[in-house]
Amino acid sequence: MWLKALMLMIMLSMIVVSAETQPKRKVYISADMEGIAGVVTGEQLGPQGFEYQRFREFMTNEVLAAIEGARAAGATEILVSDSHGNGQNLLIERLPKDVQIVRSWPRPLMMVEGIDSTFDAVLFVGYHTGTTNAEGVRAHTMSSANFADVRLNGVSVPEAGLNAAIAGHFGVPVALITGDDAVVKEARALLGDLEGAVVKWPLGFHSARTLTPDASCELIREKAKAAVARSGQRKPYRLKTPVELELRFKNYRPAEVLAYLPNVERADAHTVRFRGKDVLEVARFLEFVLHYEPGLAP
Ligand SMILES: [Zn+2]
Repeated sequence: MWLKALMLMIMLSMIVVSAETQPKRKVYISADMEGIAGVVTGEQLGPQGFEYQRFREFMTNEVLAAIEGARAAGATEILVSDSHGNGQNLLIERLPKDVQIVRSWPRPLMMVEGIDSTFDAVLFVGYHTGTTNAEGVRAHTMSSANFADVRLNGVSVPEAGLNAAIAGHFGVPVALITGDDAVVKEARALLGDLEGAVVKWPLGFHSARTLTPDASCELIREKAKAAVARSGQRKPYRLKTPVELELRFKNYRPAEVLAYLPNVERADAHTVRFRGKDVLEVARFLEFVLHYEPGLAP
């Protein structure tokens, strides 16, 4: 009898030890909307669109699927950023209680605000291709109306590239991207062979063949699980410092006026050059360009 009790005690202490030594795994999820299954036009993407309210639900479901997948692979802590449009798309009451959400703008680290070196992996959900890519539903980089190119150290980067570089500054790798097949291809060419969930196939800027919302969530859950399980093998995307940003505008005047600043150079009629000591300074500069106007209030 005492032997049984002793064995039970040993087994119990082993369980306690394993619970205590289970490593913390922090995962960051940056969520955009253009790459959500079914999204093809502005009708799904903003409060004026006739399908927007339903697509907020679909976006929330895809983020939930990524959370479930990450958890199944051992994620213990998750931070989600709502990184589309007004930054207030996700239905936050539907997310688990122990998840926190970054909302609205401006924020110095943009679409990956809150990332730091304690995270193990970043997942991009609902992403789209960059403005220089001829393929992909709603291809653009940060500002479809204003930016014609964003280059870091001479390399044209989509949002996934800029955000990967910010995460890379903290030594955190990107493990997954979800969206159309063009964005997965684009991210792999820049960042290496990360997990990709292809939820639609673009037929044009405003058209695609798409999975259903349910099928898309199933795929994202599975890919997020695989991505987080293997994130230790992935390398962060690090830029050489200082980091040179070349920002090309569709119009002339933003370049003209920004070049009044002593640390901004006009590279050509449409382009300014800014040098940051690291990519975090570049991100703050970009956020300034996107959000400053003299009439800002309050
Ligand atoms: Zn975007």
